[in-house]
Amino acid sequence: MKTLKIAIQKSGRLNEKSVALLKNCGLSFENYKSSLISSVSNFPLEILFLRDDDIPEYVQDGIADLGIVGENVIHETDVKVIYLQRLGFGKCTLKIAIPRHSDVQSLHDLNGKSIATSYPVILKKFLEKNKVSADIRTISGSVEISPGLGLSDAICDLVSTGGTLKSNGLKPFADVLESEAVLIGRKSEEKNPLIVELIQRIQSVLRAKETKYVVLNIEQKNLESIQSLLPGIKSPTVVPLAESGWVAVHTVIPERDFWEKISELKTAGAQGIVVMPIEKIIL
Ligand code: ATP
Ligand code: ZN
Repeated sequence: MKTLKIAIQKSGRLNEKSVALLKNCGLSFENYKSSLISSVSNFPLEILFLRDDDIPEYVQDGIADLGIVGENVIHETDVKVIYLQRLGFGKCTLKIAIPRHSDVQSLHDLNGKSIATSYPVILKKFLEKNKVSADIRTISGSVEISPGLGLSDAICDLVSTGGTLKSNGLKPFADVLESEAVLIGRKSEEKNPLIVELIQRIQSVLRAKETKYVVLNIEQKNLESIQSLLPGIKSPTVVPLAESGWVAVHTVIPERDFWEKISELKTAGAQGIVVMPIEKIIL
């Protein structure tokens, strides 16, 4: 079968998590050092290390079959690729931000103002949709310093925590696009068995990350009251303890309501609660 190629960022914010995801899928390869390509020794896959801006086009043109890239880059380059899987990392929002003491109060107030950005395509669409006519100044980096230098009245840039905005005397004003890292591919290759296999592995890693493995002890007579709190994958595993009248319960809990569940379990009589990370969940 033809070897697949996946393009990931060679260095930058998405590199480390992209590499970690592929390694957690059981793929064995050398990290990027100086070569552009790394071969996976235990799966017919090659990894191309590229600048993120090039990834969508490489996938569209068939130089790579898959890519891991921020959605913002896909929207900006306007290519024909499909989303195969959202990956849950690299989350950020493309925002318009204005100086702390700006007189801009509504989108309409941006009419006639200048906005510096590295995302002119996305910003243009957003302004058109909102019937705002502003002057878009395309710059390639350090967008956040441009109002302070008197180069623009506002900026449109990626924000995650907002710390960079704050330290440059800016405040968020409007959200333009939410973004996270996604796995992309071509429509024609969607059913390729190797791609299907890789997506399944990625999903099992993502699923595992969203859940914790929990073991706890409880008196047999209280078992029923906690069973309704614990769905497990099918249902919880219950094993007797050496001490009669007691059982150990093994189950998985979603990360998002973890602390709430733990306190409910304690109230229901659970003791000796042990929580462990899960590597993979294969359904
Ligand atoms: P390259 O050298 O590959 O062109 P870059 O400088 O364009 O890198 P990075 O700054 O490494 O890109 O960001 C890569 C991606 O990380 C962004 O396109 C975006 O999807 C995501 N990201 C997450 N949080 C942020 C943030 N706070 N600022 C910028 N990008 C972010
Ligand atoms: Zn880039």
